[in-house]
Amino acid sequence: MSYAWTCPFCKLPTTIVSTNETAERVDCTIPSKKGKLGLIVNYIICPNTECNQLTLIASLYTLKQKPNAYGYATNELLNEWNLIPDSSAKVFSPDIVPQVIINDYEEACKIMNLSPKASATLSRRALQGMIRHFWGIKKPEDHKGKWTLWNEIQAIKSKPDLGLGVWSAIDAVRKVGNIGAHMEEDINLIIDVEPEEASKLIWLIEFLIEKWYIQKYETDLQLAEIIGMANAKTTKK
Ligand SMILES: [Zn+2]
Repeated sequence: MSYAWTCPFCKLPTTIVSTNETAERVDCTIPSKKGKLGLIVNYIICPNTECNQLTLIASLYTLKQKPNAYGYATNELLNEWNLIPDSSAKVFSPDIVPQVIINDYEEACKIMNLSPKASATLSRRALQGMIRHFWGIKKPEDHKGKWTLWNEIQAIKSKPDLGLGVWSAIDAVRKVGNIGAHMEEDINLIIDVEPEEASKLIWLIEFLIEKWYIQKYETDLQLAEIIGMANAKTTKK
């Protein structure tokens, strides 16, 4: 089996075949709340001979019994960690979170130590993207004066389904260093920040993705399940 792959080190698009990759699965067959689990450790060696770097990824799956056979097959991917190269970015599915927001978020994580101010700028853009996409916020036509990220944040403050603790989290992060001032500036204006401030903004993005996109996705799944069950019962009658 082979697949297309882009090396995170040399950035060259390549094809991975069995001689470039080795994967092992370690199972936990003690049933947990999520069921039985399997961790796949994946070593990929870049086929580009000038690069030859190791990429190491760990993926946690739920397991299901193989039909008519002993043993387990992987079922649902629960979590994935990029161990080498090391990025602190969490992996969010583009089925749940818009790709542009994921891109800004991942880039913000990647450059946080290298350039906190570029990272903070990307985080602000991700935050604005989420507020606009998830809450449909835009500048009111009759608004006079500067319209900033802070105006957009204010516009969601009164939403009854904003999410538990969301306002306190935004407010707490706003009080760190210069972040509050950033929110009142144009989204593209680059402002000097400390790494600690950049990391607080990343934390806020992760928190809001969880609170908004992922919780909504999970609630929708549960609702669909219940509606499906109710429909099945009605049909039986
Ligand atoms: Zn490479």
